[in-house]
Amino acid sequence: MSKARSIGGKPLRPESLMMSYGYDPRLSEGAVKCPIFQTSTFAFESAEAGKAFFEVAYGLREQRSGEEMGLIYSRLNNPDLEILEGRLALWDDAESCAVFESGMAAITTSLLAYLTPGDVLVHSEPLYGGCDHFVKHFLPRMGIIPVGFQAGVPMAELAADLTARIAGRPVAAALLETPANPTNALVDIRGVADLVHSLAPADRAAVVMVDNTFLGPLWQHPLEHGADLVLYSATKFIGGHSDVIAGAASGSVEVMLPIRTLRTFMGTMAGPWTGWLLLRSLETLKMRMTAAMKNARYVADYLAEHPKVEEVHYLGHLSKASPMQETYRRQCVAPGSMISFEVHGGEAGAFRFLNALTMVKLAVSLGGTESLAQHPGSMTHADIPPADQARMGITPGMVRLSVGVEHYEDLIADLAQALGAA
Ligand SMILES: *Cc1c(COP(=O)(O)O)cnc(C)c1O
Repeated sequence: MSKARSIGGKPLRPESLMMSYGYDPRLSEGAVKCPIFQTSTFAFESAEAGKAFFEVAYGLREQRSGEEMGLIYSRLNNPDLEILEGRLALWDDAESCAVFESGMAAITTSLLAYLTPGDVLVHSEPLYGGCDHFVKHFLPRMGIIPVGFQAGVPMAELAADLTARIAGRPVAAALLETPANPTNALVDIRGVADLVHSLAPADRAAVVMVDNTFLGPLWQHPLEHGADLVLYSATKFIGGHSDVIAGAASGSVEVMLPIRTLRTFMGTMAGPWTGWLLLRSLETLKMRMTAAMKNARYVADYLAEHPKVEEVHYLGHLSKASPMQETYRRQCVAPGSMISFEVHGGEAGAFRFLNALTMVKLAVSLGGTESLAQHPGSMTHADIPPADQARMGITPGMVRLSVGVEHYEDLIADLAQALGAA
């Protein structure tokens, strides 16, 4: 395997490794690009080799040092997934990564790997609509108690109330989304991790999981800030072209083991074609995210000055007075390219604006090369009752904009004419 990670003792950066890391052309007829291994199963060289692979795969014994784990069956492993996982792990400097067929598959498999009946799951609010539903409507049926707290409120103000509501029950995990979708409110990962780790059951460690879809894997590295696991909807920035649904989880070998094992038995892994598409996407990840991040600043500056825009939620505009400013400086590398803003005139105003857009597409999802706009209150977060939406800061006039890689002047021209119609 071509695993050179440094030249002359200098480590190579992730973007330099995305074209080659983990792939050996000699194993594939010299092909420069990793082929799609569109196969469900792999031939063993001998019965003894097959036996040895299964012993390791099913945890019947430890892997011997120097022993290469062989390929068995594409629900357990496949070259496209293994190479992709190796490359994805580099961005978060994680030991291990697992790829899934959707972001929801990554998140639900990770939660179920760690939660047992009677456990508390601490979570930030708002969460992505699908996660909110799973946490509040499915997990309680399994006897798991979700305890939520508002993103953006400093931990010092939250700790006493949160501890009281946990009421001495075992906290097995936390699910944090920061920045929160769609408000861009930040959670202090270190602050929550310290609290949650101190409230873990006596016999287990609490696992702090961060949904890093909005800023990762470039602009925020949760493992450096106290998280145990990083989760992604790889459908968004990692895939980056709005043409594939996928997810990922990264962490230490130890934290990943129960997740990887449950993935095998639930069958939530990604297929080889998804793996191949993401390998292709990773080659341009840094370029795409950097271009979109630069565009977003022009767009946010324009929106902030517009008379029909009431408020702009953009990480690059946090004021010195904001309690999130300190968290942003410590935890985030750049403000990313997600903006939400409030259009005058509530839902009717927001709808007039969305219907008038010509270049920007009216669609949910985010992180693609093209700019997308949607209305969280009636679309991605429609499942959340209006009173809860208001508490979470999701207002009727709110529009969420994912800024793409178009020319920023064309983007601003489209926003300007649509705001004229609002
Ligand atoms: C889209 C999204 C998800 C769900 O991912 P899918 O790939 O659609 O399953 C989870 N969290 C966040 C923050 C998202 O934006």
